Amino acid sequence: MNRSEALFQRAQQTIPGGVNSPVRAFKSVGGTPRFIAAAQGAWLTDADGRRYVDYVGSWGPMILGHQHADVTAALQAQLAVGVSYGAPTELEIEMAELLCARVPGMAQVRMCNSGTEATMSALRLARGATGRDFILKFEGCYHGHGDALLVKAGSGLLTFGVPTSPGVPADLAKYTLTAQFNDLESVEALFDEHPDAIAAVIVEPVAGNMNCVPPVAGFLEGLRALCDRHGTILIFDEVMTGFRVGPRGASGRYGVTPDLTTLGKIIGGGLPVGAFGGRREIMQQLAPVGPVYQAGTLSGNPLAMAAGLVLLRQLDDAALYERLETTTAELLAGLQAAADRAGVPFATTQVGSMFGLYFTGGGTPSRFADVTACDIDAFRRFFHAMLDRGVYLAPSAYEAGFVSAAHTTAEIAHTLQAAEAAMDAIRT
Ligand code: PMP
Repeated sequence: MNRSEALFQRAQQTIPGGVNSPVRAFKSVGGTPRFIAAAQGAWLTDADGRRYVDYVGSWGPMILGHQHADVTAALQAQLAVGVSYGAPTELEIEMAELLCARVPGMAQVRMCNSGTEATMSALRLARGATGRDFILKFEGCYHGHGDALLVKAGSGLLTFGVPTSPGVPADLAKYTLTAQFNDLESVEALFDEHPDAIAAVIVEPVAGNMNCVPPVAGFLEGLRALCDRHGTILIFDEVMTGFRVGPRGASGRYGVTPDLTTLGKIIGGGLPVGAFGGRREIMQQLAPVGPVYQAGTLSGNPLAMAAGLVLLRQLDDAALYERLETTTAELLAGLQAAADRAGVPFATTQVGSMFGLYFTGGGTPSRFADVTACDIDAFRRFFHAMLDRGVYLAPSAYEAGFVSAAHTTAEIAHTLQAAEAAMDAIRT
């Protein structure tokens, strides 16, 4: 038994399923999750000393690679003066000013500790600000595990085939309406059925929790117009896409400005973080100025602020995003060529340094049903064939992949060499 296997057995004694977040358990791909001992740049090292090129990047935050020297230095400097005070700090103002300067439509912002908290709080705020109860989300989009959002969600729920989690009261779930991503008519129909009742439309502007599905032309613009017409708050959940798909996130990339934006992942540089912000008059409804309550013992934590600020300052760089996009395009072109050569039906999607891999002969998916129709078993076999050859992909067919600035031609070449063999190995 190797160390990861031993650790997995031990973990399961005291941690449900051996993991602190379900997709980490490799349940849908099978086998033993790799327990990670260290990471540097684009590489992970597991407990058995095996190395992998990492395309998960801590599920998004590591856009400049692991152990970026400036982030580490900022953390060390903060450690010297304290890790948490429960009182305001100048670092929080710097973070708020930076986010408001860079994120379209963000006049004010509140920090919290996870993407889940950000979306949960944004929804409460939207309901409080509008006096309405219904929210509208999209099938296959994941916005964290707040009760109202665990309805027809993506990511782990999709991976494990749980459309709506037990434990969410039906009386609450009935306020969550679900439409189809990239299908404005399905949104319009719900607005018609529930006139003057929908507080918010929440959407991942690039759907990254049902693999990686870009918005079709006009979809985000159409949501903006419908929300304007119905007095509904438009929330872009940019927990994944914020500072990932471009220096101004998806709203900057597609030129559509929401009323509220949720953030997480990159803005904490790998430390636990979340944020939600947007139009001033909406944000002014929050306590202590307004009546909508939201709080957090560790919110605006100095370590998370210090790490996030350093990372965000480095990301004010259009050329960096162009390089990331080029590297990702090279990776995907190589994977497609390997699949074509092996005769494996395959398609890819890309938005900046986010990507999706699909085992399908049906063309590039743009709808939820296209994604679920893909060959999940082929993905499972490909995942393991790559893992065996030192490439760590997300252990689910429903997660986006991420390339970092630390992925150089050497890492891409290593990956494509593995893919040549893996595509042959999975051909049935
Ligand atoms: N929203 C989106 C779009 C996400 O991708 C995620 C997590 N992957 C979340 C919200 C939840 O964030 P967290 O896991 O930090 O609670």
